[in-house]
Amino acid sequence: MPGSAIRDLLRLTESPGVLSMAGGLPATELIPAERIALATASALGDRDLLQYTASAGLRRTRESIARHETVAPDQVLVTHGSQQALSLLAAALVDPGDVVVVDDPVYVGAMQVFASVGADIRGLPLTDEGIDVATLAQWCADGLRPTIVHTVTAFHNPAGVSAASGRRRALAELADRYGFWVIDDDPYGRLRFGGVAPPPTRSFGERVITLGSASKILAPALRVGWLIAPPQVVALVERLRQSADLCGSALCQAVVGDLLDDTDWLATHVAGVAAAYGRRAHALVDALEDVFGDAIEISVPDGGMFCWARLPGVDTTSLLDRAVDHGVAYVPGQAFSVQRDLSDRLRLSFATLTEDNLRTGAVRLQAAVAAG
Ligand code: PMP
Repeated sequence: MPGSAIRDLLRLTESPGVLSMAGGLPATELIPAERIALATASALGDRDLLQYTASAGLRRTRESIARHETVAPDQVLVTHGSQQALSLLAAALVDPGDVVVVDDPVYVGAMQVFASVGADIRGLPLTDEGIDVATLAQWCADGLRPTIVHTVTAFHNPAGVSAASGRRRALAELADRYGFWVIDDDPYGRLRFGGVAPPPTRSFGERVITLGSASKILAPALRVGWLIAPPQVVALVERLRQSADLCGSALCQAVVGDLLDDTDWLATHVAGVAAAYGRRAHALVDALEDVFGDAIEISVPDGGMFCWARLPGVDTTSLLDRAVDHGVAYVPGQAFSVQRDLSDRLRLSFATLTEDNLRTGAVRLQAAVAAG
């Protein structure tokens, strides 16, 4: 599986002295540890939060998430990170051999989930404006009947791109017309540092399931994510969840609910994280353009954590060893391929390094390419 290739690479990139843009982690120093400590102390005052809780999630946290996402509480199911939402949905909705359409390049975690349920996975080449709905419409007109179409509409992992309003609407309408489910996997949408947020894909149709997560706005270790779906899908997933792990952690869910409800604090916190990522993204892209000139194709995303770049004529998989020798790491594009040739692409995370280190990383990357 491509995921294991990435894990092997990440081990390499953890060597001391390597400036790693390979990881998909949020910045540790921007995690609101003190505010989480306060919320945890307050939650521990309530013994019930040390008990088992409902499989669909702690009632009051479902309500907090419902307010945060402007939906009804019975449309919300709280999961162990949004990755669990993805795997429960795959188990609930996909039979072996069913067609599942994913973006190409793909979020590797989605690829792994759909492979594990025996889906017939079709990669839809991603465009600079997000999912290619026109090609998908053509595939459907030609007879393809997907069960699920998975995409990341905001600040794609790995490609950084987003789908604007028109595309989101077209995707939701296509789902209604052909009866497939859209999974709009959205852990990054709130980390916007440029442009204006379009309406969520689910506002345009009946068959859109949204995945959300506390991992990138609060902390991955809380392991709180959620899905937003029509109540019949929530009920189906709730039954499966009982056999998966009975329920999530009431304590962690209470902490997340508390922080989502502290709306002024949350808005300030998330704006601070997004602004820091924006400065880092600009520092990285400016430095890459300075050192590579015309030898790189790259654009600044409007949010999220990733830049997707192209080095025409360079095989980024074989470059990686040399890059690590030069003290810099990234993930080669081929790791995100379903069937496309992405061998001259690379994913660079700007989330975890300082602006100075991002500039140094760009210089080292260029030195590694020049040494080839
Ligand atoms: N979806 C996407 C697109 C992701 O990038 C990630 C994390 N890298 C996840 C889902 C899973 O995140 P979590 O389980 O921490 O919510």
